[in-house]
Amino acid sequence: MKLSGKKALITGGNSGIGLATAKLFVEQGAQVAITGRDQKTLDEAAALLGPGARAYRADVTNREERKQLFEALAKDFGKLDIVFANAGISGSTPTGSTDEAVFENIININLNGVFFTINAAAPLLNDGGSIIINGSVHNYLGAPGYAAYAATKGGVVSMARAIAGDLAPRNIRVNVVAPGATKTPIWTRGASSSAPDEARQKRVAAIAAGIPLGRWGEPEELAKAALFLASDDSSYVNAVELMVDGGATGAPFGAPMFRQ
Ligand code: NDP
Repeated sequence: MKLSGKKALITGGNSGIGLATAKLFVEQGAQVAITGRDQKTLDEAAALLGPGARAYRADVTNREERKQLFEALAKDFGKLDIVFANAGISGSTPTGSTDEAVFENIININLNGVFFTINAAAPLLNDGGSIIINGSVHNYLGAPGYAAYAATKGGVVSMARAIAGDLAPRNIRVNVVAPGATKTPIWTRGASSSAPDEARQKRVAAIAAGIPLGRWGEPEELAKAALFLASDDSSYVNAVELMVDGGATGAPFGAPMFRQ
């Protein structure tokens, strides 16, 4: 087991990549705290994960809820060894027609929420710990309609480097895992969920055609990358952005859509 005796916090651990990672971390011997906003999915996740995990309702953007979360973690867990700042939302912010509140909400959750989670976790982290931030291929894609989301996912990479500098004296490593298209509920939340089935299936296929491996990622594949960054297997890996995207950013012209 790669995480025996380790204590981990995973924000957004009640869904998608966070939940798959919580499951793998528990299997690998860690005690895991998961957070999210939705009490129903938090309860379901806690039941699925069993005694190795505890769920806490806390919005990463809410100062008071964060304070209560970290007080509870200090009481229930004592110290932490691993923080996976994973919670995030997507959202459309086309240039020329975007409301400020929509833009700011994405920045607030995906960027401010990540920093203030790590800021509050730092005093609880054991020396030699590991911090992982969930990034995205949108740091590179230049996808239309994604200015706010892309800014947050580029922002967390530069932020990770600065935090790695801050925490280097304590031998705490700080890395980003950057997923490509991964099969999670993020794709069916909000406005896109009202699109007709056929339109959605077309979009799914179009995205797969732009990925050299020709398919979407599974949340479990992201969990395995997070486990690598959390465990001693990556003991000399620090301040990197690990792309887990089937080659979408590294070899885009190898994608099925470019094959004769
Ligand atoms: P999901 O929608 O399945 O999970 C998102 C998680 O974030 C949920 O657990 C949600 O909890 C939590 N969350 C959202 N807002 C808040 C908030 N304000 N406070 C606390 N928790 C919050 O999506 P994924 O698993 O796909 O997303 C996880 C991360 O992966 C995100 O950062 C996303 O940007 C990134 N990513 C995902 C990709 C994909 O294709 N799936 C691609 C690239 C990056 P709740 O529902 O309770 O609010």
